[in-house]
Amino acid sequence: MTLVNTKKMFSDALKKGYAIPAFNVCNLESAQAVAEVAGEKKVPVIIAVSEGAANYAGYDYITAIVKTAAKKYKNQIALHLDHGKSFEACKTAVDAGFTSVMFDGSALPYEENVKITKKVVNYAHKFGVTVEAELGKIIGTEDMVHSDTENFTDPDEAKDFVKRTGVDSLAISIGTAHGVNKSIKTPVIQYGVIESVHNAIPTTPLVAHGSSTVPKKWVDLILKYGGEIKKSQGISEVDIKKMAKTAICKINMDTDLRLAHTAGVRELLATHPEKFDQRDYNKAGKTYVKEQVAHAIELVEGVK
Ligand SMILES: [Zn+2]
Repeated sequence: MTLVNTKKMFSDALKKGYAIPAFNVCNLESAQAVAEVAGEKKVPVIIAVSEGAANYAGYDYITAIVKTAAKKYKNQIALHLDHGKSFEACKTAVDAGFTSVMFDGSALPYEENVKITKKVVNYAHKFGVTVEAELGKIIGTEDMVHSDTENFTDPDEAKDFVKRTGVDSLAISIGTAHGVNKSIKTPVIQYGVIESVHNAIPTTPLVAHGSSTVPKKWVDLILKYGGEIKKSQGISEVDIKKMAKTAICKINMDTDLRLAHTAGVRELLATHPEKFDQRDYNKAGKTYVKEQVAHAIELVEGVK
């Protein structure tokens, strides 16, 4: 299929009480892994590319790869810019063929966030591209995103924000955290915040960032084969499942795929020191990424 925006997948998810997983990719293997698993399971999926990953791979290269992968399957696939930090980054993604963009103005003063989000919405909607924005502060570090502080999203502000910007979905701060170690503050999901924000903006799909589960098996493999991860803690699978049943329609998992790929690469190279063909170790990484994607789809979309 050709790439789609997030409109239909979110309205279905909101109605039926599940969420769409958003998986971050940065190269051929990771994009193929996500498309193959979701395509075979026939479930909607969001392939997310952060600004850092888009700069790494090239907006046009990554679009071509994801478009080619999507053509092979009949499920809905959206190509999404994760944490666009400026209007220009969002415009570049729209122009390259992304079908969904996030403008993250959460670190800006409120009025500035409203102003730039509205500008992104006006531009993106001309091309049928859906827009996600962020209100509140999510703690932690991931790629080009960092915050030392946490501010849960305010329902009244969310209502005003959606009304003034016309944004299609809203990322909210509810106690999740970016990165491999969420224990900088033990994650306690604020279900009350999800509920009150949903009551304030009942038709707007909500988004949970920083929702990696940091599976112990990948961390253990990385440590076993010479990696160094000092502290790691994820969101519990119980919480991921529970969040998926609320008004949260998109659950972002980035770290888990990185861990899975690195575990595969390290294991292959350590157990087969004679190998030096990058296809061998990238294939090993991709195999674990596919396993992780399948597991995450089961958790949030309820499809085995
Ligand atoms: Zn995020």
